[in-house]
This record gives sequence, structure tokens and C-alpha cells, in this order.
Amino acid sequence: MNNPLEASNSLPNSLGQTVDGLMSEADCTVDLSIIIPCFNEQQAIPIFLKEVEPILDELNMSYELVFINDGSTDETLKTLLECKQSVPQMRIINLSRNFGKEAALSAGIDICAGRAVIPIDVDLQDPPELIPKMVKIWQEKEVDVVLAKRGDRSKDTFMKRWSANLFYRFNNVISKTKIPENVGDFRLVSRRCVEAIKSMGETQRFMKGVFAWVGFKTETIEYERAERSAGEASFNAWKLWNLALEGFTSFSTAPLRIWLYIGIFAWFISIFYGSWIVIKTLIFGVDLPGYASLFTAVMFFGSTQLIVLGVLGEYIGRIYMETKGRPLYIVEKEY
Ligand code: UDP
Ligand code: MG
Repeated sequence: MNNPLEASNSLPNSLGQTVDGLMSEADCTVDLSIIIPCFNEQQAIPIFLKEVEPILDELNMSYELVFINDGSTDETLKTLLECKQSVPQMRIINLSRNFGKEAALSAGIDICAGRAVIPIDVDLQDPPELIPKMVKIWQEKEVDVVLAKRGDRSKDTFMKRWSANLFYRFNNVISKTKIPENVGDFRLVSRRCVEAIKSMGETQRFMKGVFAWVGFKTETIEYERAERSAGEASFNAWKLWNLALEGFTSFSTAPLRIWLYIGIFAWFISIFYGSWIVIKTLIFGVDLPGYASLFTAVMFFGSTQLIVLGVLGEYIGRIYMETKGRPLYIVEKEY
């Protein structure tokens, strides 16, 4: 395959030093790596393969299908091993337990060997028909990232659409790393972009943010998000909320800093209000009633302090986890 991108042997880190252990394009053994995190997906896997294989075969490129079994409790691993017998391009990475989609994706990104890498959901919610389009744009327009944007989310529930919308808005206000709206993990990334991602040291990875942070030349194509092919979505509201928190705190310190300004504002108000009360008392004498305003003020500032402590806690918790330097995931075995 004629590759448009220049091979860069190593990427400098923020200090201008060379990061060791990075792959160049010349080291890549296949053209295309598809990364598929799986968590309890025994039904979806055969459907996925049946759909994706002919599409990839038509591309006339060498490819690998990197399946990450993210500690499934059903027959996912067995299904994968069975399928592998007829699909030699399959690689199966079995994680030692469920580490979550972000970690499973990271595992795939670290292990894959393609010149271009495409993470995709196994439930066919990311349409594989887009893969040839992405590859074409990557080859012709010489870009490093081809984003797939959800044009139409009408099949998602109202709550999901509303909360997703709110998340992007809020994130893009408080964070310098702008996350493109309605774009999931489904995208094509070039090898040098993948290497840039691998050089990021944080263990708590919010993949959407990580992808956005590394930058590079980007093209976007639109698609319609389909319904799940089989099985059930494993992301409930609580998991999504935590993912959103991870996103805010990973790429922005605004929630920490805003309290300084709110504090200064409240300080001035209390000075003026305090002075007013003192002056009023000196002129008009003691005025006993006032418990209501006192109580309200105590409640207000008490709860504000609790919120601030909570925000601090979110960050300190992350600093704590980060300082342990634990690996993102543990690979039990590659089959
Ligand atoms: N997934 C995973 N680990 C998890 C949860 C999900 O690897 O802990 C995978 C899952 O198998 C699927 C993808 O991540 O391939 C997206 O999951 P899901 O369809 O449940 O999420 P949604 O479509 O709601 O984003
Ligand atoms: Mg899904």
C-alpha cells in the first residue's frame, strides 16, 4: 500500500527528548488495526465478524482484528476462540478482569501493529461500512485523524441525547481541550497519532479527551448511529456520570479554580453587608430579629464549603490514584 504519511521514527516529548519504545510506520506489520473492546458480548461477536470481514477483505489491505476481552463473565472468550479458527486475522487479548472500556481500548492501542488504527464497538452501533470511507480519506487527504460524527441521534433516548449534549457544552466551556460534539471512540487514527497517545503518561484515561488532546490534522464524516445488534448496553446513567466527571477533571482545573472567584465575590458581599449591619446597629440600636438571615447565611456557606471540599476530593482522589503509577490494565494472555 502506498502510504501518504511520512514515517517518523520517534516523537519528542514535552521536554524535547525522544521517547523510547515508540513504533514508527516502518515497524508496522499490517496496514489496518481494528480494535474491538468486548464485555459480555457473546451474541454480538459472530454478527460483528460476519458484517465486518467482507468489508475489510474488499479493501485490499492487510489487517488485524484486535479483540480485547475486558473480563467478560459470559462465554465471550470461548466465542472469540471459536471464531478465531476461521478468521486468522483475529488477535485475542484477554484482560485479567473488567477494567472498563477506556482501559480495554488502551490495551488495544498499545498492542496493535497497524499503520492506521480504528477502535470500534462490537455491537455494530458504529457502522463498519464507514471503514472504507475513513481509509480513503486518510490515504487521499493525508490526514492523521478521520472522525466519525453522529449526525442523527434520534434512536437514542431523550435523556441520553440531553445529557450528552450537556456534557459537551459544559466540557467545552471549562476545558481547553475541546471534545468534538457527538463523536465517539469510532475514528481512524494514524500510527504517529497512536504513538503520541501512547506517550501520554496518565493512568486514568478519558479516551475522547486523550484523542482530542493530541491534535493532528483531522477530517470529519457524518453517520447515523444504529441500534445495538444484540445484547444490552453496559453503560448506565451512573457509569456515564462517572465518565463525564473523569472527562472534566482529566482535562480541566476550572472546577478547582472557580471557587477563588466565587470566594472573592462572596467576601466583598459579606464585608458590605457586615458593615451595613454594624452601622445600622450603632445608629438604630440592637435589633434582635434576624435569625432567618443568619441561618440562611450559615446554611448557604456551609453547603458551599461542602461542594468545594467535594471538588477538591475529586482531584485529590485522582492525584492519589495517579501517584500509585499502576498499569492501566493487566493482560492475562494473548491467544
Ligand atoms: N465495553 C468494554 N468494557 C466495559 C463496558 C463496555 O469493553 O466495561 C465495550 C462493549 O463490549 C462495547 C463497547 O465497549 O463493544 C461499547 O459498550 P456499550 O455498547 O455497552 O456502550 P454504549 O453503546 O452505550 O456506548
Ligand atoms: Mg453500544
